[in-house]
Amino acid sequence: MDSVIGRLQTVRSRIVKACVAGGRPVDSVTLLAVSKTFGADAVREAFAAGQRAFGENYVQEALDKIAALSDLRSQLEWHLIGPLQSNKTRPVAEAFDWVHSVDRLKIAQRLSEQRPAELPPLQLCLQVNISGEASKSGLASAEVPALALAVAALPRLRLRGLMAIPEPDGDFAAQRAPHRALRELLAALNDRGLALDTLSMGMSADLEAAIAEGATIVRVGTAIFGGRSRPAAG
Ligand SMILES: *Cc1c(COP(=O)(O)O)cnc(C)c1O
Repeated sequence: MDSVIGRLQTVRSRIVKACVAGGRPVDSVTLLAVSKTFGADAVREAFAAGQRAFGENYVQEALDKIAALSDLRSQLEWHLIGPLQSNKTRPVAEAFDWVHSVDRLKIAQRLSEQRPAELPPLQLCLQVNISGEASKSGLASAEVPALALAVAALPRLRLRGLMAIPEPDGDFAAQRAPHRALRELLAALNDRGLALDTLSMGMSADLEAAIAEGATIVRVGTAIFGGRSRPAAG
């Protein structure tokens, strides 16, 4: 079905099937609808179909969209999943519910200082460069424990877990490997005394592999909103 509602239903049934295949409760995976490059109208359409959590990559685009959808603000959850520069932390601390893309202590410290006191703590994931390429953002696995312990100690934030964007791979077994590595990294942090519950991994092409390895948030754009004609801006 070529509509946001129809595609959302298709994605939901993929998630349910993957949960059943993995012996997981179907409500153990949250669908984050990645609405980057799509307008507020597309978000409203998904909202009308019951979708509540939305992911955005570009800060200014997201702030405009959040403002355009202010009438729904209390019912929506906004997640920043794109790179965050230190000069943009304040509006992010003020407008978002989650940030998945933290990979430096300085960014976390600024978000902590700038999170308004009247809002609940900002929910945070550390982004890990799990496929180990030089070009992608995210920190190396070896650097994760020290940063996680430091971030977990900051006020006004709640460290929830880890996020990764593995290299695309067509083969299911190969897709599982980086997701498994992220799951093992999270388990190692919990062995060191943290209580992290979130694995943000899996996108349109590999959500089944991610769920097989324990994803708790899958970030899905194309399979819900269609192809993005506009390239990454901002
Ligand atoms: C764009 C994006 C997604 C969604 O990717 P699709 O392949 O369109 O599902 C997920 N996570 C991040 C970090 C993204 O930038």
